[in-house]
Amino acid sequence: MTVTTRFAPSPTGNLHVGNIRTALHNWLLAKQVAGRFLLRIDDTDAERSREDYVTAIRADLAWLGMVPDGEERQSARFDLYEGEFQRLVAMGRVYRCYETAQELDLKRKVLLGRGLPPIYDRAALALSEADHAARAAAGEKPHWRFLLDREAAIEWQDGIRGPQHFDPAKMSDPVVRRADGSWLYLLPSVIDDVAMGITDVLRGEDHVSNTATQVQMFAALGAAPPRFAHEALLTGAEGKLSKRLGSLGVAELREAGIEPEALVALLARLGTSDPVDPALDADALAASFTLSHFGRAPARFDEAELHRVNAGIVHRLPFARVSHLLPDGMGEAAWGAIRPNVEHIGEAAEWWRVVTGPIAVPVLEAEDRAYLGAAATALEQTGADWPALTAALKEATGRKGKALFLPLRQALTGMDHGPDMAALLPLIGQGAALERLRAAN
Ligand code: GLU
Repeated sequence: MTVTTRFAPSPTGNLHVGNIRTALHNWLLAKQVAGRFLLRIDDTDAERSREDYVTAIRADLAWLGMVPDGEERQSARFDLYEGEFQRLVAMGRVYRCYETAQELDLKRKVLLGRGLPPIYDRAALALSEADHAARAAAGEKPHWRFLLDREAAIEWQDGIRGPQHFDPAKMSDPVVRRADGSWLYLLPSVIDDVAMGITDVLRGEDHVSNTATQVQMFAALGAAPPRFAHEALLTGAEGKLSKRLGSLGVAELREAGIEPEALVALLARLGTSDPVDPALDADALAASFTLSHFGRAPARFDEAELHRVNAGIVHRLPFARVSHLLPDGMGEAAWGAIRPNVEHIGEAAEWWRVVTGPIAVPVLEAEDRAYLGAAATALEQTGADWPALTAALKEATGRKGKALFLPLRQALTGMDHGPDMAALLPLIGQGAALERLRAAN
């Protein structure tokens, strides 16, 4: 069976690093075996779902290079849910309940007071058809619970957490449909996972208890459950679930100069025992992606680390990948010269201005000014050839090291540090270099 994964966001907000990470892991899991990665828009909640978020989710995935092999929308699949629901009704695996939130709360408190697990007591199962008819006549509408099979132990081999066991006798029958007919997340997700041929569900560990009930829903619908894996959640660098993480999304990271490759390189391995390595592209990350390398401890997301990884990525980006982001006139040689000195592509423009000028004329000591006079004379002979120029100056002046190089850099760039002068000088060119040396002398 073709490995098929899905990313199933609810379009009630923008993607943040946590769900981008989940999407990425599902994409890598499918990609490593040439499987399928599907996008499922979980928009059963009509009130909170928004079309602009759907558009933004697609755009964010595209920016990250994760193109889904298909897309489904839950709001277009209500007929399917209705049909499957009616099958469960006929089998007696869903049942009508009428308790209000306050009544349920009271029941829970009584059970807790007696030291018992606060699970639903299934009182509604005792209602007769006449009782239901009477409630219907009074205008009461039921909500629906899924009847867990208390005899069937719930077990699965979790790809990250290992063997999992749940005792259904200690669990509440989950509500799957509200009194107004709308769906809660649990059942449509199972129906879709079956219909979409999902073989692997990889999601956050906040879904572990959902999985426990869903395992029985798959069985009730006559389907084999997919493989499940639940990853530890992301925390901020300080080790806590931070508010910032919940809102930090693609738009903001992009604005900060983060490249998609950097986010992919970091998030692919965050929470695993594998080192983050900017040298690995998506294919290499997919090939090495291993669920058993994930730890149980929360994975720490550190923005400073993301910027470090970003620098590592930018230092490797080929000209063709960045040319449209560079200032007019800045060619491949200039990118090659400047690339090692920037952490974000945007900074390249600042160095390009150093090449094109005008630059601030540095204030130098008298002896350095005389030295730059000699440099101008030498440059007329050597042309914009840094090794030849510095060799000639070394010979003529006896200077070496910092005394030889720094005044030249200062006069030619107006800066004390920066890209390799051997690469920069030909870009500045002989004419402009001569002017700069003379202006500083
Ligand atoms: N819409 C659900 C969520 O965003 C999907 C969970 C799942 O992957 O099944 O939490």
